[in-house]
Amino acid sequence: MPGEALTTEEEFLAGKNTYVEDGLIKSTTFGNANLDHATKEATVKGKSIEPVKEGDVVFGVITNVKDNTVMVELKRGEGETKVTRRNAQIPVRNISNEFVSRTRDFYRIGDIVKAKVNRIDDYGIDLETKGKGLGVIKAYCSKCRHEMMSNQEKMKCLDCGSIEDRKWFEKEDEYKPRERDDSRGGFRDRRSFGGRDNRGHGGRSFGGRNDRGRDNRQGGRRNFNSNGRSNFGGRSR
Ligand SMILES: [Zn+2]
Repeated sequence: MPGEALTTEEEFLAGKNTYVEDGLIKSTTFGNANLDHATKEATVKGKSIEPVKEGDVVFGVITNVKDNTVMVELKRGEGETKVTRRNAQIPVRNISNEFVSRTRDFYRIGDIVKAKVNRIDDYGIDLETKGKGLGVIKAYCSKCRHEMMSNQEKMKCLDCGSIEDRKWFEKEDEYKPRERDDSRGGFRDRRSFGGRDNRGHGGRSFGGRNDRGRDNRQGGRRNFNSNGRSNFGGRSR
């Protein structure tokens, strides 16, 4: 079954319908596992379902809203992709192109979110919801738990009348300067500072930081492996 460990990466190669996590070869699908001792390949016979990967769109439920991150329990991937791990998070920098001062103004526990997979590594799955089309697709009133309706920029509970903010998926989320001086031709300033250019830079610098983080970790892993092996060699000598 999906996520089931079949064998270890040291003993077999990950073949069809399998993936590697924490040194274990796991199944991506329902079906019969086969460990071929001749080819050293672990495969699963079954319908081919791809596990979600970076860039895929997924759906989940918000389980916790912290100051620096929003926790998500993944439910399913878009299309034929399969969610093989449940726990993911939206780090505050990935929430919106808008300035995020309070994560609670963007997500609340129980909301259903549509997000893009930003990064997958041994430490977890990072999601992002920047841009229109991503964010909360179902919001529930934090007072009475009724489903809320999108009402222009705000969410409104038709049951108790409560009004709350969300990162609603249909909402434009462009970077806006926090202070706007209309007397100095604010609109043109907003365009040149705001929108696309700034977003591009933001994206690149975030990407850079992510990549570096990942390189470090991989470096760490490589070092660990080679140390482990050379220690072992030393001991046997
Ligand atoms: Zn309500």
